[in-house]
Order: sequence, then structure tokens, then C-alpha cells
Amino acid sequence: MSATRHNWTKEEILEIYNKPFMELLYEAATVHRVNHDPNVVQVSTLLSIKTGGCSEDCGYCPQAARYHTDIEGNDLMSVQQVKAQALRAKSTGSSRVCMGAAWRNVKDGEEFDQVLEMVRTINKLEMEVCCTLGMVTENQAQRLAEAGLYAYNHNLDSSEEYYKEVISTRGYQDRLDTIDNVRKTNVTVCSGGIIGMGENIEDRAGMLVALSTLNPQPESTPINALVAVEGTPLEDQKPVSIWDMVRMVATTRIVMPETQVRLSAGRTQMTREGQAMCFFAGANSIFAGDKLLTTPNPDVNEDMKMFEELGLNPQKPFTKKVQPQTVEAQNSEYQSLGEKPKWTRPDHTIERNEAAKVKAKALK
Ligand code: SF4
Repeated sequence: MSATRHNWTKEEILEIYNKPFMELLYEAATVHRVNHDPNVVQVSTLLSIKTGGCSEDCGYCPQAARYHTDIEGNDLMSVQQVKAQALRAKSTGSSRVCMGAAWRNVKDGEEFDQVLEMVRTINKLEMEVCCTLGMVTENQAQRLAEAGLYAYNHNLDSSEEYYKEVISTRGYQDRLDTIDNVRKTNVTVCSGGIIGMGENIEDRAGMLVALSTLNPQPESTPINALVAVEGTPLEDQKPVSIWDMVRMVATTRIVMPETQVRLSAGRTQMTREGQAMCFFAGANSIFAGDKLLTTPNPDVNEDMKMFEELGLNPQKPFTKKVQPQTVEAQNSEYQSLGEKPKWTRPDHTIERNEAAKVKAKALK
């Protein structure tokens, strides 16, 4: 194993990102082989358990209620529906189920209790369970941990500076606070970001500084390429080039050697050859299923064909960490406190987000 550093500077990360391509690829692949089996890639399934109607203004997100997109919202899925989907995912090679709810934050109450039951149910299927539910308090994170949650996803999205250009309804520190609350439990942290939102390379490096200087570093880091959705403020952004994607994956691998680097949104825009380069550069996790929350994703059979071609094997569940135990609701040490996480509301507006909101209103 190569030593994991928690003191990376932006300058050092930029120097890595800007290396000649072949050198960067070679260095990243070398770090990857020392820390991971290069022929194993985790397959995760992302399930949108509650779609649309979110009150936040994330400029990339078609689920924000204020933008005009074609997303059909739905209420929280039932535990049985989720179980059926998890079993289907398991039968097609997924070892992890990630449940996403379009919430600003978790609110104690019936719906959260239902999510806790989903976590218990999937953990009992011997699959890793991840949730992405917005901001959580420490008590809520503890309750998720008790239910058997393996990972909590909360992306930093971009650098602290560029975050302000994309989201105005909460601040960067709010994200870090939730990550901190999760860290107080035995749940692992999944946190990454999106490239192609109009940020510059310094912002990409800035995001990697924020992630790599966390101690411990996140166990999982998704690298998303923006999928520009019509009706959102970022609808006109140009697709990310494969070279940028590989550079970002390789740099993440070098500065976060033990982390599972996840190829997430944007895979439909990538060729198999492009994805193979990402695996070589250190990506060792993908999302399966024809939808990623609301955006398109490659068909699972196509992914399996690619695995066969490349000689890749899906990662078994609990390879990196033992399975958490599930505590039943009646034996829980942590009770509902009726909490709602507090967050800051930075006093700035993002013109393009406002314009998208106005446009959406006019179309209704
Ligand atoms: S990314 Fe999450 S918090 Fe932001 S608008 Fe979409 S669902 Fe809401």
C-alpha cells in the first residue's frame, strides 16, 4: 500500500493533473495496482426512492422543483418495492444498492422510519447499502448506522469557490458538516463531484484538495461528468471530453490511493475504450442500471459484455469492510429527536439559476 497523505496542496494536485497524459496514466495505474485488484470493479445500483420536487437550486439537477424539466416526481417507494429492485440488482451482479431521495435534508418522522426499514431489509440481503438523502444530523446518521447502513453519499460537487456559482440555497460548510456527522458513526463516506459545470481546472483541483485532506479520506469518490438536462440552468454546457475525465480519475486515484473511485453520471457519453482508460487510470466502481436517478445510463447487459471483454470481475460485497450489523427498530439505542439539520443560506443569488426559474414559471 502507498501511504495516504492528507496534506495535498492545490499546486501539487494541479501539477499531477497537468502531467503529460502517458505519464499521468502510468503513475495512476501504478498506484491503483498497489492498493486495489486492477481486475475488480464494483457494480452498484442507484435507486431513486423519492424523485423530484426538491426545494434546493442545484444548477445541474432536474429534480429541483424550481426548474422546468420532464422529470416525473414520485412519492417515497415502499419497502417491498425497494426490496424487489434490490433483488433484481443482486441477480445482475450488483453488490451495492444506493438509495437516493430528492430531499434537502432528512426529517425525523414516518418517511425516515420507512427509509431505515429499507436499509435493514437490503442489509439482510447481504448487499452493501448506501443512502443519499441530503443533510443529516449526528443522531440521524447514528440511526442509519444502527439500521445497517454501509455508506452515506454527500457530494462536495466542486471547489468551495465554484460551489457558489452552482448552488445558492446552502453553503459548502453545510456539506462538510454532514460528512462530519456521518464520520462520527461507523458508516463509510462516499463523496465526490461533477466536472463539466463550467468550472476551471483549478476548481477541479480545489475539490480534490477538499476531499483528500479529509482524515480519513472518503472510502468512495464518485466522479460524474455533467449530463446537461434541458430546463436546468446548466442545459447548455458542452459535454466533458474523455481526456478530462481520464485526467480527473487518474488524479483522484493518485491523491486518494485507497478510495474506490466511481465512474458515475456521464458514462453513456463515453465509448468502451474511454471507460477502459478510466479503469486503467484507477476507476474501480460503476453504477449499473438504465437510469442514474433521472439521467440515462448504459444497459446492464452492455456493461457485462464490457466486463467480459476487459476481463473484469464484479467486486463481492463487503470486500473492503465487514458487513454492519442491523439493530431492529424496537432495540434501537437512538430514538427520533424530531430533528431537522440546520444549514446556512448564503446571501447570494445565481443569475442563471434565477433565469431558469423564471423560464420554468412562464412555461407552466
Ligand atoms: S441535487 Fe439533491 S439537493 Fe440538489 S436539487 Fe437535486 S435532489 Fe435537491
